[in-house]
Amino acid sequence: SKETGRNCHHFFNAIMLDDVLKKRELIDDLRSSIVNNEFELYYQPIIDLSTNKIRKAEALIRWHHPVRGMVPPLEFISVAEEVGLIVEIGEWVARTAAQDLADLKKLGADEHFQISVNVSPIQFKDGGQWMSHWFEYVAGLGLSHDAIIVEITENLLMESEESVRSQLTKLKKQGVPIAIDDFGVGYSSLSYLQKMDVDILKIDKSFVDDLETESNSRDLCQIMIMLAQHLSIQVIAEGIENEEQRMILANLGCQFGQGYLFSKPLPLTLFKQKYFDDSVL
Ligand code: C2E
Ligand code: CA
Ligand code: CA
Ligand code: CA
Repeated sequence: SKETGRNCHHFFNAIMLDDVLKKRELIDDLRSSIVNNEFELYYQPIIDLSTNKIRKAEALIRWHHPVRGMVPPLEFISVAEEVGLIVEIGEWVARTAAQDLADLKKLGADEHFQISVNVSPIQFKDGGQWMSHWFEYVAGLGLSHDAIIVEITENLLMESEESVRSQLTKLKKQGVPIAIDDFGVGYSSLSYLQKMDVDILKIDKSFVDDLETESNSRDLCQIMIMLAQHLSIQVIAEGIENEEQRMILANLGCQFGQGYLFSKPLPLTLFKQKYFDDSVL
């Protein structure tokens, strides 16, 4: 009837309004979180599958909101990207990761140890503000340009915008390693891997998830690993959760692995204790 139709209409409007208000609130909270310093970086080890030693770590952001508690990145990164706050957050991430790495080097992390940071496409589309003082900053900490890996998604490789392309070229020229995150789920044309001289491929967790049971996943992992080897690109398998997956990947020649089997992402103090405490090394 006309009546239910109208109620229905009101009902949906109420839901939409509620969503809008909730999002508005989240955006306001995000703005103040930058000022109030509510972010923290966690670190997840990246393990050499042939030696079982830690070789790199990925920095993953955590937001501790005074009322909401811990807000996972999947709940706020896309909103931060939408309203541009990711530019400021991303700068904080890159700088904090570099400081933390300098700190770890003092604790004895070896000279090849690297930290990997996620850089949003919006940070590139913004004109690359995060990069403007980056090289001086990193050098000021006594780190070389290849100490911090920049993780981008494969779609960015295909970006035709001139400013984005020149930023990627500049990173490469300056010796910054580029990793392709979530490899295999986007739309990259393989020729771009070579053209852009990519350094690392990260095989998406979705290919690792059912590796023990699905021969299809195993075939796809094998293809990606062979491709990387052929192009002399390092390869990291993401989301390794059990011993079978680790073994299959190691046997396929996958160089590095990351996942809960080795460790969940840890706050810096715990990460230090677990991997860089002299008394355990
Ligand atoms: P990602 O870059 O693909 O990061 C890997 C995600 O998988 C992380 O989730 C990590 O905790 C999780 N993970 C690692 N190993 C396993 C495993 O064995 N099993 C399972 N189930 N999960 C595993 P997290 O930390 O919640 O981050 C989610 C996404 O948020 C990241 O995906 C990345 O896209 C984004 N993100 C995180 N930190 C940052 C940041 O500093 N900047 C930007 N722009 N994005 C970030
Ligand atoms: Ca990543
Ligand atoms: Ca990933
Ligand atoms: Ca992912």
